[in-house]
Amino acid sequence: MKIYILVGTRPNFIKVTQFKKVAAKVYPQLIIKLIHTGQHYDEKMAAIFFNQFNTEPDYFLNIAPNQPNLQIADILIKLQQLVDEIGKPDWFIVPGDVNSTMAGAIFANKNNIKLAHLEAGLRSFDSSMPEEHNRVVTDCLSDLFFVTESSGLTNLLNENKDKSKIHFVGNTMIDTMVAFENEIENSEILNQLNVQADKFVLLTMHRPATVDNKEELSKLIALILSLSKTYKIIFPVHPRTLKNIKDFNLQGKIETVSELIFTDPLDYFAFQKLVKYCQFIITDSGGIQEESTFRKKPCLTIRPNTERPITVIEGSNTLITFDLLKIEQLILEIENGTYKTGSIPKYWDGKATARILEIIAQA
Ligand code: UDP
Repeated sequence: MKIYILVGTRPNFIKVTQFKKVAAKVYPQLIIKLIHTGQHYDEKMAAIFFNQFNTEPDYFLNIAPNQPNLQIADILIKLQQLVDEIGKPDWFIVPGDVNSTMAGAIFANKNNIKLAHLEAGLRSFDSSMPEEHNRVVTDCLSDLFFVTESSGLTNLLNENKDKSKIHFVGNTMIDTMVAFENEIENSEILNQLNVQADKFVLLTMHRPATVDNKEELSKLIALILSLSKTYKIIFPVHPRTLKNIKDFNLQGKIETVSELIFTDPLDYFAFQKLVKYCQFIITDSGGIQEESTFRKKPCLTIRPNTERPITVIEGSNTLITFDLLKIEQLILEIENGTYKTGSIPKYWDGKATARILEIIAQA
């Protein structure tokens, strides 16, 4: 059985690290090929991950940086050319919710190739998020739904999806954390950044709703200025965020903050070591809400909603706005030990990839 997995962005790369390894061990009849669209393409957002995970893509579509429609069109054309050349697979797997995910779903549908979606059923119910449309379209076209948390199951059933095609398997992003625990532990990033365990805050911010808007980005800067009076902050900055900080002329406000460690995007092992050893996290990321829950690490997510509600209901995540007073209140709870510890959601145990391959092997 031939399976193509289509990835395009940093979080995608992190969700598919165990497929070839598990298949080689348990399902040698499954031939898995990794196709990278090139949506994220540079060393720090792409190459470093393939390197660390030892998962170099089999095929690279090399799409150009461009507007979403042009990128999606480019993916469709280049995928068609590639598949015409190398042959159709039995299954196409797409992870997550980015433009590459949706393009892969449309491609599979138009070629009568069966489609499996990793992280199916997640919904923020926020139509201003580009990712929400990618999720909905992908799930409309999917033949198998692999679900990470109970809300995904409920959402798909509410959308009248066929129950027999929905499988609650857990979270392949957690599989990667479990598989690389030693490498994460061995990262030298704390020494390199000259910080001590439990003596710093980890910050990431990259969603268009926050960083494409001068007013919201200014609130982030105000938060950094306020937090840095008490905490050392490590801020691995996403290229989109860096560009906007420069474009909106906000760099001057944080350049001289001595307690702020502004870095390029970090490699996976280094970043995960910071997740494990920080005091708490402030983010707007999807995946980091899950990773912090797995580590039972307090996570304050600056968003009005989440497509991953289990991280709030069972995990250590809290949704919040840029309200400095409320943030201070939560930090006080973290400091005095009254902030929730959370528990690890069902099936987030490092074995989701194996469950998925078992189902596909029998499909
Ligand atoms: N990540 C990383 N280095 C960084 C920042 C994030 O390796 O400097 C990882 C993080 O551990 C998580 C993923 O990138 O697995 C999240 O990606 P991002 O926040 O860009 O996307 P989202 O999850 O919001 O779609």
